[in-house]
Amino acid sequence: MKLVIKNGRIIDPSQQIDKIADLFIEDGRIATIVEGSNDDGRDVESEVFDASGLIVAPGFIDLHVHLREPGEEYKETIASGAAAAVAGGFTSICAMPNTRPVNDNASVTRFIIGKAREAGLAQVYPIGAITRESKGEELAEMAEMKEAGAVAVSDDGRPVMDSQVMRHAMEYARDHGLVVVDHCQDLHLAAGGVMNEGRYSTLLGLKGMNGAAEDSHVARDIMLAELTGARIHIAHISTAASVEMVRRAKREGLALTCEVTPHHLALTDAAVVGFDTNTKMSPPLRSEEDRAALIEAVRDGTIDAIATDHAPHHSDEKMLEYDRAPSGVIGLETAFGIAFTVLHHSKKVPITLIIEMLTIGPARAFSLPGGTLAAGALADVTLLDPDCEWTVDPQRFKSKSRNTPFLKWTLRGNVVATFVAGDERLRAR
Ligand SMILES: [Zn+2]
Repeated sequence: MKLVIKNGRIIDPSQQIDKIADLFIEDGRIATIVEGSNDDGRDVESEVFDASGLIVAPGFIDLHVHLREPGEEYKETIASGAAAAVAGGFTSICAMPNTRPVNDNASVTRFIIGKAREAGLAQVYPIGAITRESKGEELAEMAEMKEAGAVAVSDDGRPVMDSQVMRHAMEYARDHGLVVVDHCQDLHLAAGGVMNEGRYSTLLGLKGMNGAAEDSHVARDIMLAELTGARIHIAHISTAASVEMVRRAKREGLALTCEVTPHHLALTDAAVVGFDTNTKMSPPLRSEEDRAALIEAVRDGTIDAIATDHAPHHSDEKMLEYDRAPSGVIGLETAFGIAFTVLHHSKKVPITLIIEMLTIGPARAFSLPGGTLAAGALADVTLLDPDCEWTVDPQRFKSKSRNTPFLKWTLRGNVVATFVAGDERLRAR
């Protein structure tokens, strides 16, 4: 099985490659990259994909996805989530543990891996819970989950409030080589809040969550990481103060990483005017000052990864009053279009940096394979059209849910094809 992806602009930040060339794939792995191999008859048995005008990148990796299976298959299944992933250019996704039951033991971890294999689309890496049932009390069976294939631990959505529990979790995770992924939010400080606390929450008469609820937990967890030597990853960072703390901690040599979502890069709390519940998420959309600080942190390398926090909800559940609707939006199928439109076309962030945050950046954060076009690597490859304009139409999504805040947005930049281990899983044209 040979495949040549010809004449594309190959961008692989893991090897500092950015050039027009041909990518050769053999038996599901990257063979070589050759410049100007204008020799179509190089190997008559090869299949050829003409990538003229397209970007050829390593397959995207999403560190933060909610797949809802087991337990809420009407919102998303592992198979439908994996289909949405490849439609968005993602060849690997990490599944958060807040399913029903919670992924706090090896049998759930194995179930997720088995379902993902059956689906045969994107690679799915389970994230185990930090505590049993994510209740924040007793530690979950981290060693067994790691053995079964979990790549990190998190109580995403239900932040660990007890600092002593978090300290012990970090020590345990450190001993088992697991990254601790923090959803940073002081639940007492944020209690009752449904959006960012600021001018718009006052204007709309909705109870706000102050950014300090996030910042205080980022500060705490940086201190605990220093104390324990654990590897931590700050999920969906959303405030100016939080990115400044991460910047400083990195400068001082702490091995921590962080991710930002496309919606926090594209939107602010002004989007809540109109009470569309698809603008309700946790952490909430922040102020324009916070958004500007996130974009600056992308530019200077403080942020390692773009992660979607893809959180499917049924439209009946989202159709409640703003205070009662569940938090979360889907994101797998709009992530690249949003990132590229906002960061590149609007803010002039270099393309290579955006691709780095979708490939080798997340791979390094969780020590995952992939994110590279190096010879010998699995041929996970994403083909992108940097200028293609398209309109967001949730009816065309592979996800089972439709809760996007980007309905009818016109985006510039789209995913054209996705290959997983050399097999084409999507072709959009
Ligand atoms: Zn979260």
